[in-house]
Amino acid sequence: MKIGIMGTGYVGLVHGAVLSSYGFPVTCMDVDAEKIDRLAAGISPIYEPDLDELLTGGIEAGTLSFTTSAEEVVQSSDVIFIAVGTPAMDDGSANLTYVHEVMHAIGKYANGYKVVVCKSTMPVGTNRSIANYLDGVLKTRNEPFRIDVASNPEFLRQGKAVSDSLSPSRIVIGTENEEAKRMLQTIYAGYMRQHVPFLYTNPETAEMIKYAANSFLGVKISFVNELALLSEKVGANIQDIATGMGLDDRISPHFLQAGPGYGGSCFPKDMQALVGVGQKNGEELYVVRAAVAANEKQKAKMVDKISGVLASNGSLRGKTIAVWGLSFKPETDDIRFAPSYDIISGLVARGAAVKAYCPQGMKQAERAWTDLSGAVAFCESEEDCARNADAIVLMTEWKQFKASGLDSIVKSMRGNVFFDLRNLFADHPRIRLLFDYYSVGSDERR
Ligand code: NAD
Repeated sequence: MKIGIMGTGYVGLVHGAVLSSYGFPVTCMDVDAEKIDRLAAGISPIYEPDLDELLTGGIEAGTLSFTTSAEEVVQSSDVIFIAVGTPAMDDGSANLTYVHEVMHAIGKYANGYKVVVCKSTMPVGTNRSIANYLDGVLKTRNEPFRIDVASNPEFLRQGKAVSDSLSPSRIVIGTENEEAKRMLQTIYAGYMRQHVPFLYTNPETAEMIKYAANSFLGVKISFVNELALLSEKVGANIQDIATGMGLDDRISPHFLQAGPGYGGSCFPKDMQALVGVGQKNGEELYVVRAAVAANEKQKAKMVDKISGVLASNGSLRGKTIAVWGLSFKPETDDIRFAPSYDIISGLVARGAAVKAYCPQGMKQAERAWTDLSGAVAFCESEEDCARNADAIVLMTEWKQFKASGLDSIVKSMRGNVFFDLRNLFADHPRIRLLFDYYSVGSDERR
């Protein structure tokens, strides 16, 4: 069975590389010619642990190839995965432009029976409209063959994308078509042997599962973040609260860490899109809407908190702030919709000079944050970043920060304030001796 992947980003590339490692012949296609050239040379355009080995392994074994030709990938594949981006439009709804480009290419070039599998996160109803469109095109072309469509949403987590893809939490297959289901079962037979749970649904349910899962996680984060803000005022400790809550297995301890607000290319856009789908269908999703608003508040509160400590009049003019971590989470280079951007923008707007360091997110930030160019100095290391700064703001909990030499770092600084927006050092035995230390969700001054 030959597999084509259209869209070679975090999802498409990892999925393609993993399927090729199982021995399937996989061709990954993307409209970005530079990306494809690099990939063909075995160079990954993104940072994901273990991806490089998988990529070179697939290329060397001859099971993984790359192209910019939609015609080639459509005609040579039995199963075509759609993994293009579905970013938010200005009104918050999902932009399906790239999905439609791929759908049109499949309709134009299909030369026999195919299964089209939608991995991209798509609003409810999209799979059915793709199936209807392709049916219509094949009828107009007077073709004797069919194209079947299945929704197969992706649940990988960036930073753990390869291990999640090798060992997924579940496989959701949303289709009413037996042949499409059978083909996907063949591709995913290894997961069946691993006893990964399989869930078969109609396309609408599969589409909704993805939005529901992301929105629920966003709600969980916003819930704990609001409690963190309250805890700081009433003398409670959010980490102990989360532990106490999480011991109830109906709640679970996962995704209960207070922080500066969620970000990334998925939660913000998917939650907004779900709210929009609710409104379009006359069902207001108050809980999700409130979680989105609470997330915006959380980021603003972090800026208020930093200025409240560092400045007496709200102005940060003359202050230098070292930001550790830019990516929206550790082990990824992805800075899309990272809270670091909003928080740095807020600090710069109040007059601060910002120095920044991230183990993997620097290149992307330098390229994307053109509005901040000149206001942010990108540094070589966390030590370099902290030098002569008044304060450190830890934005992302990269493991390497935990191992940094805090004694020499504090000596190299002008001030000694440490805002730990991930509570990475909350249990460090000497952090409060070395620094004027502020965590999230507990009043450190009590
Ligand atoms: P991405 O932006 O990293 O990659 C998308 C790729 O699609 C880009 O390389 C782009 O050049 C390419 N593309 C655009 N138009 C194309 C076309 N017409 N033909 C071929 N390629 C085209 O996106 P991503 O993060 O991989 O996300 C892809 C989808 O998967 C989105 O719907 C996202 O919501 C969903 N998803 C993402 C994650 C994640 O962690 N990133 C997890 C689960 C689901």
